[in-house]
Amino acid sequence: MDFEYIADRVRRVRENVNQALVRSGRDGAAVDVIAVTKSAPPEVLPALFEAGITDAAENRWQVARDKLAHPAAERFKWHFIGSLQTNKVKYIVPRFDWIHSVDRLELAEALSREAAKTGRTLNILLQVNIAREPQKQGFHQEDVRRVVELVAQLPHLELRGLMTMAPKVAHSEESRPIFRALDELSRQVREDMQLPAFDQLSMGMSDDYPVAVEEGATMIRVGRQLVGPADLTQGGQGL
Ligand SMILES: *Cc1c(COP(=O)(O)O)cnc(C)c1O
Repeated sequence: MDFEYIADRVRRVRENVNQALVRSGRDGAAVDVIAVTKSAPPEVLPALFEAGITDAAENRWQVARDKLAHPAAERFKWHFIGSLQTNKVKYIVPRFDWIHSVDRLELAEALSREAAKTGRTLNILLQVNIAREPQKQGFHQEDVRRVVELVAQLPHLELRGLMTMAPKVAHSEESRPIFRALDELSRQVREDMQLPAFDQLSMGMSDDYPVAVEEGATMIRVGRQLVGPADLTQGGQGL
């Protein structure tokens, strides 16, 4: 398979990110572009790395396994972004640097215990279901402070911030209030609870990352726009 198109895709996403930063007065702010590789074969990894991508994400252990077995996998920092069963934690902790999808206290406790066994410290984000969609994981907004207080005490975890997935909408502009609410919540928690390391906002996917960057995203999780099929015709922003 030929992955020559990957470099163009990466360039385009970075241009869109830079333009969104300029539009919103965030010029020069750091935004990590995380490549979501779940729908691509492991062979995409070297092309991504050569195009300057150093962060990759998966949402299911079964699929992640094949990617992690590729020799190029060790060049990346790995992010777990999917719903995570407690009994899978033992596979995830040794191989992933970041967990974006901590959606219940019990999962944070299990991650802390497993990280202690391996002697590492894991970066974690709390997933927040801002739109309160019944089919989506994540804490409700009003529960976040209480959870932060508890999770911040757990050893071998570094609580780095919040993550959300915006609802499916026809126009990405409709997701702006969701991203803005996550940014506000994150600022309040960081200031009120004096957590200087609580500085990451993981929000924005292929269809809505420019809006998420305008509203303060520090990490965007991009799948289809980076590694989708070469004849991609979906109407995402900037394509
Ligand atoms: C698949 C996935 C993404 C990437 O979605 P695209 O629309 O392909 O960019 C981002 N975040 C999560 C949690 C995902 O499951």
